[in-house]
Amino acid sequence: MYNFSMAFVIIRSGLDYDYASIKPIVHEIMDKAGLAAIKKESRVVIKPNLLAAAPPEKAMTTHPLVVRAAAEYVLEKGAVPQISDSPALGGFDKILKESGIRDALKGLDVNFKEFRESAIVETLEPFRRLELARDALEADFLINLPKLKTHQQMLLTLGVKNLFGSVVGFKKPEWHFRTGIDRDIFAKLLVLIHAALKPSATIIDGILAMEGQGPGRSGRPKKLGVLLGSDSAVSLDHAVCRMLGLAPEDLLTNKTARELGFPGDFELDGELPQIRDFKLPRMSPLVFGPKAFHGFLRSHLVERPVPDEDICKLCGECWKYCPAKAITKGEKAPVFDYEKCIRCYCCIEVCPHAALSAKETLPGRLIKSVIKRRK
Ligand code: SF4
Ligand code: SF4
Repeated sequence: MYNFSMAFVIIRSGLDYDYASIKPIVHEIMDKAGLAAIKKESRVVIKPNLLAAAPPEKAMTTHPLVVRAAAEYVLEKGAVPQISDSPALGGFDKILKESGIRDALKGLDVNFKEFRESAIVETLEPFRRLELARDALEADFLINLPKLKTHQQMLLTLGVKNLFGSVVGFKKPEWHFRTGIDRDIFAKLLVLIHAALKPSATIIDGILAMEGQGPGRSGRPKKLGVLLGSDSAVSLDHAVCRMLGLAPEDLLTNKTARELGFPGDFELDGELPQIRDFKLPRMSPLVFGPKAFHGFLRSHLVERPVPDEDICKLCGECWKYCPAKAITKGEKAPVFDYEKCIRCYCCIEVCPHAALSAKETLPGRLIKSVIKRRK
């Protein structure tokens, strides 16, 4: 059962990726979250953010030393930790290698295992049933290790959002289709996934965070020097919002979580730095107006992926991945069918040459300037 007593949030700041400093903080958080109860026979799953193959300095994945510190804690309790995720972009093994995680954990008795098999769990309307990674659902202890990053669709990806990685493989784009571009519904899906998985501890790596057009290659690394941990992913997300000068409910998952009975209150251990120069992403606006115009509005108000012909290498990664099959090979760059495109922006994240970016159309800019003038 979920623990509804007041959650804690521990924050430590002024940090670098120095293992001697990180390890005791990670272990302190895990102790406080009750993970000292791990036994030899416990099934313990560690779920970092393994978005795509990139080195630690790109800030796309959870830093290997944070993963190592969590794994060592579990090993000290006598259990064998399983390091798992279902990466959105690219192969699990390649990501482990390029992120530095495989090297950092060399010599430790850990089990690297991609989430591949799903199990079904009942949930609330409108979804009713979720298919989530069986290993995550059946773990005795799930340790959630997100990276602090911006997210073009959801503003930030933090503790709650990180658990979307427990949706196996191509089920992810399926959910993008089902929730469309309605961020409220997507936020509800994320909160319900988190509620189904009940992570025992969430530790967010914000030492080198990502700002701007995250969470992929278009975002920019930003040193914040913080590690935060909690027994509640929702409370942790509230704390990060406060640290960045946002109202907690600016993050839709926080708002939805409150509506669903996860208030996000917490007792703070440490001092939240006040970070005011963190660049948030340009967000796609929500669709509004009469239903008959939704297609037009969606097509023009929601930024569309656009290739830069001078940078594109026609490598094909974008059309291989596009869940809507909206991209075909062109002469100098990919060609997009914007009617089919669901604006998931996976192509932008997956492009290894940063040749794609989200852009507004001319009608979109005109509509927005009219709206602004009328405000
Ligand atoms: S992934 Fe990037 S470089 Fe490759 S074809 Fe698509 S736009 Fe071009
Ligand atoms: S074209 Fe890009 S943004 Fe559109 S559906 Fe395909 S991957 Fe998503």
